Amino acid sequence: MASLWNEEAECLSGDALDALHLAKLKKMLVRVNEMSPHYREKFERAGVNPYEFSSFEHYRRYPTFDKYEERESQARSKAELGHPLGRHITCDIGDVNRMSASSGTSGTPSFQGHTKNDRRIQNENFARMFKRIGVEPGDRVLFAGVMSMWVAGLPSVDGLLDYGANVIPVGALVGSMKVAEMAALTRPQVVMSTPSFLRHMVKSARQEETFDLADIGVEKLIVYGEPGGSVPEIIDELSQGYGGAAVYDAMGGTSCMNPIFVSCEAHDGMHFIAPDHAYVEIRDLQSGEYLPIEGELEGEAIYTGLDRECGPLIRFCDGDKVRITTDACSCGRPGWRMKVIGRTDDMLLVKGVNVFPSAIQDIAVHQQNALTGNIRILKFAESPTIEPPLQLWAECVGAPSDADKATIKAKFEEEIQRALRFKVEATLFSEGKMEMEFGATNKAKTFKKMYE
Ligand SMILES: [Zn+2]
Repeated sequence: MASLWNEEAECLSGDALDALHLAKLKKMLVRVNEMSPHYREKFERAGVNPYEFSSFEHYRRYPTFDKYEERESQARSKAELGHPLGRHITCDIGDVNRMSASSGTSGTPSFQGHTKNDRRIQNENFARMFKRIGVEPGDRVLFAGVMSMWVAGLPSVDGLLDYGANVIPVGALVGSMKVAEMAALTRPQVVMSTPSFLRHMVKSARQEETFDLADIGVEKLIVYGEPGGSVPEIIDELSQGYGGAAVYDAMGGTSCMNPIFVSCEAHDGMHFIAPDHAYVEIRDLQSGEYLPIEGELEGEAIYTGLDRECGPLIRFCDGDKVRITTDACSCGRPGWRMKVIGRTDDMLLVKGVNVFPSAIQDIAVHQQNALTGNIRILKFAESPTIEPPLQLWAECVGAPSDADKATIKAKFEEEIQRALRFKVEATLFSEGKMEMEFGATNKAKTFKKMYE
């Protein structure tokens, strides 16, 4: 088993962990109540008293937080206090050491501040992730993510620098070809970016035919930001594209000083690496009941970062629908494992049934000799309700003839009908000909907006 950065913390469980969670939650609730008018008013409305807090049962009575509330709080602080971090921040504005932004779907970004101590905790989580997957100080790590204010941008570079890696901060904004060239020149042992950008880099390099990224000695890929890093076919494709490199999928939970999850060689879920820094609740989507994290379970994840000084989010609902197992992993590392099944945000309603775009993408990915797995779902209105046939685009491998395309299309549509029980109308494109759109954070957009 690979060694751990902080064995004591990463192996915490049972009564000791419960006691730590309760102590940290109480301290946090009292703090946000005293420091933030937003929380004080919210707790008063909900009829909860942080000074009387003593159990997880109490914690369930605290209202959850979501991105709409965050945006509202930030709009108010901008107007009333002259900063965009929200009325829910709980530190002196002068103690903010770094700001990040997440691109909101509505176009207004939401902001996160970090104090020096917030950065310290985040860097500790990065160190745990690096150590687990065998990245050592001094290893050359090429960072090919977007290095702007994105939450996974500069903070990742900060984490790498603090860990003592030999950081090659190229950043994705120079374009996939330029990053591929820099990789060929600098020969990193580790490359970090989104799965779709790393796939792009391989394709760009192959088009130029001057070098192949499979030959430059990359040992590990750390991917994040998209579901691809946990999809077997995409893991295989990435690994082959980089000469057999091991692929690790990393993830966070909003406000939890990410990363707090990373996968392993078993590719059977991401291990939870920060039990002392984050408290995760799982709510059953049907019954609304909270499920103990024990055995196998499924539901919506609710995150609380436990040590956050600036802008703690109490019980944040990210919209992640997850599956968890606490069974021991074949890799031997501690930490229960989680798979993201879908985002409740992206969920579509087709004939009254919930459908995650990832389910359609899975079917495309499974036809790996015919389809690349890149799909776009055409949306003609904002509502998640879709009248079948659902219209979508899919990208073919290579440039098949019209006759071959018709065969692939028929098979793809049939598979979806069989597996998901609704009708789709697919338009197929030759490889590289389908219009892709990337968000500010370089995530490939699944939906193609066909309305204003
Ligand atoms: Zn494992």
